[in-house]
Amino acid sequence: MAALRAVLFDFGNTLFYSPDGAAILVQAGVEPATADQVWTEIWAAAGTPEEMAKGRDLSPENHRRMWMALFSRADVHVPGISERLYETMTPELWTPYPDALPVLRRLHRRGVPVGVVSNVGHSLRPVFDRHGLGRYVSAYVQSYEEVLEKPAPELFRTACRLLQVEPSQTLMVGDSQIADGGAVAAGLEVYLLPQVPRGAPRGLARVLDLLKGSRARGHRLASPLSGR
Ligand SMILES: [Mg+2]
Repeated sequence: MAALRAVLFDFGNTLFYSPDGAAILVQAGVEPATADQVWTEIWAAAGTPEEMAKGRDLSPENHRRMWMALFSRADVHVPGISERLYETMTPELWTPYPDALPVLRRLHRRGVPVGVVSNVGHSLRPVFDRHGLGRYVSAYVQSYEEVLEKPAPELFRTACRLLQVEPSQTLMVGDSQIADGGAVAAGLEVYLLPQVPRGAPRGLARVLDLLKGSRARGHRLASPLSGR
């Protein structure tokens, strides 16, 4: 295996976490247990293979229509709340996990190029810039711009090309085996993060360990081969 030289990250639930939709429902007068249940159901429905195959992130129009259909499940509790949920869930209002900035900074200092590959309906560039992460990201590959969604291998290949690295030298980091797991078909290694509580450290420092380990392994492998 080649030593890892570059890292691609997913956006949602990998580097950034969403606003708390359940809290929005509570503010609107829904009883907390019900709000939690409704929100959990919406989020679970959004992540099913069927839902993810509908082309939600192929355009801003699709994004709005399909998310509004999901959020409308909450309208039986508060009529019209779906509109407010949609507005609140824009990437502009997502928050970086506390370890996102330090890990991106350390990758940058080690000379490891970083890209973002996201199924998203709007540009993430201003979102990363606002939180001081943009300076560490060399390439964005966004589904609505490419008119292709993860797990399409072309997206990961495009990111590698932009970073000028081979797929075999690149690690994809994400949270979805369906979407981010598609990088395997493009020849990348993939690291999928287990869930953590909202706002807790995401466990991204593991990425630094994986890179370090792969480089040490690469050196060990190189020595017997180089003697031939
Ligand atoms: Mg994700």
